Amino acid sequence: MATTSFLYHTLGLRGYQHLRTDYRGGAVYHHVELRFDRRTCRGCGARCDELTLEGRFERTFRALPVGSRRQFVVLHGHEQLCQRCGSKLREPIAFAVGKRRHIKVFERFVVDLCRIAPIKHVAMLLGVSWTLVKEIFKGHLRRRLRTRSLKSIRLIAIDEFSIRKGHQYMTVVLDLESGEILHSDEGRSADSVIPFLRRLRAVRAPLEAVAMDMWPAYLLAVRDVFPEVEIVHDPYHVVSMANTAVDTTRRDMYRDLRGPERNVLKGSRFLLLRGGERLDDDALLHLERLESLNKPLFQAYLLKEDLRRFWSMPSRKAARKFLGAWIARCLATRIKPMVSLAKSLRSHRRGLLAYFDFPISTGPLEGINNKIKVLKRQAYGFRDLDYFKLRLAFLHEATPAFPG
Ligand SMILES: [Zn+2]
Repeated sequence: MATTSFLYHTLGLRGYQHLRTDYRGGAVYHHVELRFDRRTCRGCGARCDELTLEGRFERTFRALPVGSRRQFVVLHGHEQLCQRCGSKLREPIAFAVGKRRHIKVFERFVVDLCRIAPIKHVAMLLGVSWTLVKEIFKGHLRRRLRTRSLKSIRLIAIDEFSIRKGHQYMTVVLDLESGEILHSDEGRSADSVIPFLRRLRAVRAPLEAVAMDMWPAYLLAVRDVFPEVEIVHDPYHVVSMANTAVDTTRRDMYRDLRGPERNVLKGSRFLLLRGGERLDDDALLHLERLESLNKPLFQAYLLKEDLRRFWSMPSRKAARKFLGAWIARCLATRIKPMVSLAKSLRSHRRGLLAYFDFPISTGPLEGINNKIKVLKRQAYGFRDLDYFKLRLAFLHEATPAFPG
């Protein structure tokens, strides 16, 4: 029958007989019934010839809309007594999952739409609730994530980003080869990352190196689970530490100054933090005045600029030599923020030099940070943290940044 095959091809109703179609309140209702020869027992799987009809039930399922018209499937179901296992059960329903009130094809359609439009708009278009659309999409992401293997993970980066202003953080772990966020969790303690590292260990992932800043909790976590793996303190964070040290130096000095020196320092923040190669003539002139007026600050600036050469050293050996000399020079300045920077780099020397065996960094995570910011601004943000984490796990996919 034409309509039976239409329902099969458009709604995926295999083995169902079309009974009739109603049009009520602007919606379309297709009444269907499972064909006799397709009947099975939900308890033991016995075939139709071992089943007897014991009663009827009716359930309505949402199907794909036809344009702006809603469409439903009304199942005329049977309660069956099984001769083989003796149970009296409703027939199994092939086109819907569990207690869900929509057919599978509808779910697939929702997922497709969620890839190109905000949840809010998908919900409006389909005339269903925001929650239903979100739950369907969430389930889809969760199923996909379950199939993701950690078996070949070699290089990762760990970093945190702030969830809200103040001190609420989330930890993220990035696969540096695929660009996928492998793990995310609230907080930035060792516990935010240890369970994930244990999973890596459990699947015998060939982990070789981890890029991170010098946050002690992450260091401890990696040392605890993967003692043999190399930790790489990446350029990005170290340069930013050096910038902070120069800026603190400037502020300390500014506080104690009067007169013209103070004025020269006042407008210097920007040029001190900017890379020397990116300064224009005016800025260079300013820098010159700074040099003659305030030696220590200029010294700090030069050290910061010089440190960036570390990562372009031709070999690990050259880098070690350079770092040792740099630390000594820095300590000799006796400028407080610079001295503490030098001490910190000294105690993390191994992780700094590891860069020459594994030139990796958390840089790619910084790029992802912008995407996370967009995700955060979206209405669902943190109301459903599980959903947020799932979205993070698929952030690498070229999904348009849609709100809602
Ligand atoms: Zn049975």
